[in-house]
Amino acid sequence: MITVETALKIILDSARLMGTEQIHLLAAQNRVLAENIFAGRNIPPADNSAMDGYALRASDTKNATEKNPIRLKIVEDIPAGKISRKKIGKVQAARIMTGAMIPAGADAVIRQEDTRKDNGEIMIFAPVAKNTDIRFAGEDVRKGELVISKFSVLRPAQIGMLASLGKKMVSVYKKPRVAIMATGDELVDINTDPPPGKIVNSNSYSLAALVTDCGGIPLILGITRDNKKALEKNFAKALRADIIISSGGVSVGDYDLVKDIMAEMGNSMRFWQVAMRPGKPLAFGDIKGVPLFGLPGNPVSSMVSFEQFVRPYLLKIQGHRNIFRPVIKAASADNLKKKAGVKNFLRAVVKKKKGKYVVTTTGDQGSGILKSMVAANALIILEEKVSKLKKGQMVQVQILDDSFFHTDSLAGY
Ligand code: AMP
Ligand code: MG
Repeated sequence: MITVETALKIILDSARLMGTEQIHLLAAQNRVLAENIFAGRNIPPADNSAMDGYALRASDTKNATEKNPIRLKIVEDIPAGKISRKKIGKVQAARIMTGAMIPAGADAVIRQEDTRKDNGEIMIFAPVAKNTDIRFAGEDVRKGELVISKFSVLRPAQIGMLASLGKKMVSVYKKPRVAIMATGDELVDINTDPPPGKIVNSNSYSLAALVTDCGGIPLILGITRDNKKALEKNFAKALRADIIISSGGVSVGDYDLVKDIMAEMGNSMRFWQVAMRPGKPLAFGDIKGVPLFGLPGNPVSSMVSFEQFVRPYLLKIQGHRNIFRPVIKAASADNLKKKAGVKNFLRAVVKKKKGKYVVTTTGDQGSGILKSMVAANALIILEEKVSKLKKGQMVQVQILDDSFFHTDSLAGY
């Protein structure tokens, strides 16, 4: 049996980047850029006004005072989007709006609030320094500059930047297609009221949601019975995916045949069984070159194993650099006990109390208790060597809820 760390290393070392595709900007949100983006133009393209006011020659204003204002003749009106045709001469000014191009001759802008208009002229009461309130061509982005680098995640700001550069199509890493196979003779599909001895296949749904959450495309292959023929047939179907995830059939039971199939179908089982709880009977390898995660069947085990191994793998192959859930330290609200030698992941609720994180387990930690996952926003991680932990001691907590670090209250809204 190998440790969680070794298993993760084997899995992540085997991760190969997905291929790339060109997609439209609006479809590219949260995807990872597969090219460096160099600016093909200056932003802004020309010197322009940062204020609504007047474009003028700074030298004309150097003697302006409150008592002896200077007067400039307004010779033109330049709204945003218009080009001026006149050159600003001595003691002249142009009315100018924010974003409009600075006219020739002018070298500063005075904001409207600092002037008084009088009979076709403006009065100025203090000197204006050269370059005041001018946004210069290329001051945001200079032509040729590297603006967004490869492996950046495309968030709204990046998408806006690409748009301003006129880049409609971008190269990103493809979404992996992930085949999801539930195995088990006891499983019925969601439309069936389970007869005695049967249960509804829920893993395909939780796993599909997890795959989507990681940017993958789930292909649900339905339920596969616990016999070699059925397994071989469906694994063969799964080969059109980029990744295969199976659930169930990897324990030591008589009908746990997934490992055998892995061995037979071109074999490369990289490991089986990890020193963790839940999730010990994890198998990892490939079938005819398609990576396969053989997750345990227990609903909680399959989700916890997905979180620890499949999530970082799926993110890595899509080019993400931040592939792990955040881990924080919190004070345990419970006395905890466990078997040494096995890493534990306890479903838990972590909250901030008086500025400090406090974590409490969701109760029954049996790996069939899916309700414990529903209630949890985090997993307490107890390292291999730990055997007990006293109430109040600090413990590592992996955050599962993406909104955890958002403001936690609507009070007052
Ligand atoms: P296994 O790993 O195949 O021994 O399954 C372990 C436990 O998980 C058994 O109690 C199964 O009934 C349950 N289980 C297996 N597959 C699923 C599934 N797809 N949905 C819900 N429960 C499952
Ligand atoms: Mg089974």
